[in-house]
Amino acid sequence: MTVIGLDDTDSRTLGMCTTYLATLVAEAVEARGGTVERRLLVRLNPAVEHKTRGNAALAIHTDLPAGAAFDLAREELDRWAVLDDDRTSPGIVVAPGSDTVSTAVAEFARDAVRGFHDLDAAVDLAERSGFLTEGWHGGRGRIGALAAVGAWAAFDEWTHEHISYREFHRCGTPREVDFDSVFDAADAAYPDAWDTVDREEGEAVCVPNAPGPILHGIRGDDADTVREVAAAIDSEPVDRSATFLTNQGTDAHLRSGVVSDLRDGRAYRVAGTVASEPETRPGGHVFFDLEADGSAVSVAAFEPTKRFRNRVRALRVGDALTACGEVGDGTLKLEKFAVRDLVRTEPATPTCPDCGRTMKSAGRNQGYRCRDCGTDAPGKVDRAVDRDLEPGWYEVPPCARRHIAKPLVRGGFDAATHPER
Ligand code: ZN
Repeated sequence: MTVIGLDDTDSRTLGMCTTYLATLVAEAVEARGGTVERRLLVRLNPAVEHKTRGNAALAIHTDLPAGAAFDLAREELDRWAVLDDDRTSPGIVVAPGSDTVSTAVAEFARDAVRGFHDLDAAVDLAERSGFLTEGWHGGRGRIGALAAVGAWAAFDEWTHEHISYREFHRCGTPREVDFDSVFDAADAAYPDAWDTVDREEGEAVCVPNAPGPILHGIRGDDADTVREVAAAIDSEPVDRSATFLTNQGTDAHLRSGVVSDLRDGRAYRVAGTVASEPETRPGGHVFFDLEADGSAVSVAAFEPTKRFRNRVRALRVGDALTACGEVGDGTLKLEKFAVRDLVRTEPATPTCPDCGRTMKSAGRNQGYRCRDCGTDAPGKVDRAVDRDLEPGWYEVPPCARRHIAKPLVRGGFDAATHPER
């Protein structure tokens, strides 16, 4: 089996996107008499998202011979990749057989999701592996293309996305989608299809805002469900569509970390204790410090995470958490957190057992006394506090979810979950 890896590092200005290109390449494979066995949509390290929207790379698994597949992919990229856009830097990597995807290439794919690669390392590994490569405008896309080639061997957990594309002449105009049909279809398929809509925000998450050829993308646990949801949506004509296997919704980007050793551009699961009262800053962003073993990291829930910020504001100093998110500029951008232990009491001035009034201080280190009754108490007492949180996992809402982040409703977490839908 031949594997065609593609990454065109999407054009922002002209609205091409790598999934569309992969769909065209797959059609060309079929037109040449080949069979497309599967299509992979691989989300790479989201910290690199400023370079390409969603940082996706694509792989097509086919029975076409490698040389023919390579020629055909090159022709499609020449035709379609938006080569006059300086910000695209497309690349192709073709592996002549899945058995040529070595442990090193699989490791490269894992590192591309959790860390960084430079182009030289990608080209070197591809050449040593006997792969065919081509790059345009510097060909940085060869990094993602090689990662896409290694992805099938690198990852065990796969979800599905069924992407429907617009007629190309409509791109750039408002999408005509009947939102009631989106919400009805989303409800009928939930939770097997997830992040189709955000019910609290009233947002059709599956319909992108950015320019480009995607009409909607339906994500879920199985291929039939996502296709059924797509079919139930009323909209402008669907020009073409494709179902991808993807690492979306899997948390494949997260690694275990400790507060004292976090690095920018990586995403972590990290345990600690809330060390400062959550503070809402200008713009509506909420910050607190998370401490462990004498080190602390700033944790942020940004304004676009909407109602999730109320969960964060409900934290108190002393709560024990596991926090998940990407670290950038020394701040962990919170995607989800687990409450491990809640502070249930706070120190309070004692009340008099006889008259019920609040006691007064009897002087420095002298405890408290009721002057009317003569009763006294040695110090502050523990008073129960009402908490709006429970132990377990909380998450950003669907409207703020990163492609690769795992929705709680998918299950498999190590504590109770409080899913957003
Ligand atoms: Zn009293």
